[in-house]
Amino acid sequence: MVRDRRPESSRYVWLDGEILPWEQAQISVTAVGSLATVATVFEGVRAYWNVDRPALFAFRLPDHLKRFLNSMKLVRMEPPFKEEELYEAILELVRRNGFREDSYIFPKAFFDPIGVWGFVEDPSRVRVVIESWPRRSRLASEEAIHCCVSSWTRISDNVLPPRIKCVANYQNSRLAAWEAHLNGYDNSIMLDSRGKVTEGPGMCLFIVRNGVAITPPVTSSILESITRQTILELLMHELTIDSVEREVDRTELYIAEEAFFCGTGAGEVTPIASIDRYKLGLGKIGPITDSVRKLYHDVVRGMTPSYEKWLTEI
Ligand code: PMP
Repeated sequence: MVRDRRPESSRYVWLDGEILPWEQAQISVTAVGSLATVATVFEGVRAYWNVDRPALFAFRLPDHLKRFLNSMKLVRMEPPFKEEELYEAILELVRRNGFREDSYIFPKAFFDPIGVWGFVEDPSRVRVVIESWPRRSRLASEEAIHCCVSSWTRISDNVLPPRIKCVANYQNSRLAAWEAHLNGYDNSIMLDSRGKVTEGPGMCLFIVRNGVAITPPVTSSILESITRQTILELLMHELTIDSVEREVDRTELYIAEEAFFCGTGAGEVTPIASIDRYKLGLGKIGPITDSVRKLYHDVVRGMTPSYEKWLTEI
């Protein structure tokens, strides 16, 4: 599976059960760009380097793999590998690549072959590719971004289910992100068909009102984000900040004291300074966002013993 943005240090790829040098991991041109893309499901996992230990820790790997398998189930794919096999595959691949820095792990599953309308005669004809490469964390940054509410409506469970982490869903997020960029914003927040707040492109959202952290529920056209779940747990058990999962109106975004995106790849914890040019709080990272950011940093990097349960040492 040759791609032209190969990072130099990413020497190996895992393909259908074996580790191959990147150049030798090939798939047919008839698979690339075919309707296989429509049903391609994937995951994004981060691994964090702890300089002092020194060790590399994958964050909540079993949870990501469970979601990967659920995505496969929802697109009616028969997984060719068990969760434990994918877990071992990822460890083996990242070890082989030998990263001693923050990294990203990117497993994908797609039908090969797939029919003209995306039908599959044999749902067990599934291929799995795992890539990994060094990727820096943004958790050290306090920089807050400027967002807009997108003119694009978020897809919904009965249209293109956001619960499935699949390539097809990303066209919706991509249009929103691109529109925001062209209009001079850093990113966007999408509303659902009823005008309720959902999430950003590849990231979930929290706002803070009257000191309470609020996030749209998993039935608000969002991906069931592992970072969002992590933050809810940290808010409750470590930061003793009240949190609630409930529907959020558009105008609540504008009068929130703070807001931040969260997610593995894109967001981690990304403070939001303004939405549609309404300034939030002081227009910079707020105190609750900052405590979430700092704690999340320590947890993912293996600096908080009580949360080692979420780490897999690679
Ligand atoms: N929403 C979408 C659409 C995403 O793709 C992601 C990234 N996986 C998220 C939210 C955040 O999910 P997680 O925290 O599990 O990375």
